[in-house]
Amino acid sequence: MDLKRMIRVIPDFPQPGISFKDITTVLKDPDGLRFTVQEMARRFRDRGVDLIVGVESRGFLIGAPLAYELGTGFVLVRKPGKLPAATLRVEYEKEYGTDALEIHRDAVQPGQRVLLVDDLLATGGTIAAAARLVEELGGVIAGFAFMIELAGLKGRDRLGDREILSLVRYD
Ligand code: IMP
Repeated sequence: MDLKRMIRVIPDFPQPGISFKDITTVLKDPDGLRFTVQEMARRFRDRGVDLIVGVESRGFLIGAPLAYELGTGFVLVRKPGKLPAATLRVEYEKEYGTDALEIHRDAVQPGQRVLLVDDLLATGGTIAAAARLVEELGGVIAGFAFMIELAGLKGRDRLGDREILSLVRYD
């Protein structure tokens, strides 16, 4: 299946010079989400994954059906102030300024093997921050799964020597 054909590329969004990869066109295709989830499940089914962690918000759209498919639990990593119970927070550098992510403190049990999921890997700052939250709670990173990787930004170099799956690459 040609997933790349389903991705809509929008020039100069949200700012001039940025070529935004829009996955809404993948989601609305009858085969797009199913193929994405099945390919991720195929790679990670035998890797002893206990838990999927998805990053707000498009990571939820892929991570939740992947958890359903693999028969694991699903945990949300959210922007600050959204999670209702006690949270752990991490701040990370963005291109302009800093941002933060949170996870519920009881969301991951020590030793659980966690697969982190997001729609897109760019610089890797977001998913590396999510991985830090998981590791601070004692989780073990089983791998990372993305629909899209902007390979030129070398985000995978920030993720260490761990399994990384991306289904579509742009240079
Ligand atoms: P990073 O932290 O630089 O790796 O950026 C990845 C995060 O930014 C992910 O959560 C993505 O959802 C979002 N993102 C960055 N560029 C795009 C894009 O072109 N399309 C959709 N999401 C993007």
